[in-house]
Formats: sequence, C-alpha cells, structure tokens
Amino acid sequence: MTDLNVSVSRLSPHQECALHPSFKWKPVYNLECVFCQSTLCVRGMKAILLADTRVELYSTDLPPSGATVLVEEDYETRHCECRIKDIACALCGNIVGYHVMLPCHPCLKSCNNGHFWMFHSACVQPHERLDHNSNSILLWGSLPTSTQDDQMHSSDNLQWTECCR
Ligand SMILES: [Zn+2]
Ligand SMILES: [Zn+2]
Repeated sequence: MTDLNVSVSRLSPHQECALHPSFKWKPVYNLECVFCQSTLCVRGMKAILLADTRVELYSTDLPPSGATVLVEEDYETRHCECRIKDIACALCGNIVGYHVMLPCHPCLKSCNNGHFWMFHSACVQPHERLDHNSNSILLWGSLPTSTQDDQMHSSDNLQWTECCR
C-alpha cells in the first residue's frame, strides 16, 4: 500500500482530473462515524497526506449530502498552504475531517487523487464496500461516478433530505 501511495507523487499534473490507473484497484470504503455510527461516506479511499506521508486518512470525491456539515471558519493547514474547513458529523457534531477549499500550489502540482474531502482515520470506522452483484469487494475502477452511484441516495440520506424540506 505504501509503495502505491509513494508512486502517486510522481504523476504529472495532467492526470489530476482523471482517476489514475493506480487508484483503480483500491477498495471502496463505507465510512462510519466512530462517535455515533452514522454513515459519513460511501465512497472512501484510503490515502496519505501528500504534505506529510506519515498521516493516514480517508478521502472521497463527494460525501453524501446531509451526512456531514462544514464548520464556518476556513484556515491554513499545518503542513502546507491549503485553505481548509473542518467537517463535522451532521448527527453528533464531532469533527471528523476537513474539506480542502483552496489547494496550495505544491499540492496541486504533486498528484493527488482528485479528492478534496478528507476524513481523519481516527474518527471513522471503515467498512469495505461490496459489489452488489457479487460478494467481492468493490474497487474504485468499477465504482460508478458520484452522480450515478445509487448508494449516494440511500434511504438514510433520503430521509434526511425529506425532513429538511
Ligand atoms: Zn457522528
Ligand atoms: Zn497544500
């Protein structure tokens, strides 16, 4: 796993938008809040922080709407000049990660997986997501885009949207 993440930093900036082949065999994780067990994310990827490779976290391209809330103030990270905002679990209010509002230049230049939503590994309980046809672990290479992903509109999230209308 570590080898894969190291190789990521050598990718050219042109590959930022598309999912690089090396990410395609990474498993997709459902992420649960460790404080209240609510589902925070259905498209998690295990990642490392580019600015500090000792930090392990989970990233996603898009969290389901209503699962997390952005905390008001944005600030600069300790590791680099990215502007970030903390994200909190919508149910229990604990800080579970952060959203990169404005990536800094070095971070944009070094290849990232195109994910700007991060979850601290200590705040989430990962569960490998299964393919719904077989019982094999779903990989990023076979994951539908966030708009076509029916898990993004699961009953839990739907209920949340309903009651907020
Ligand atoms: Zn929670
Ligand atoms: Zn940065």
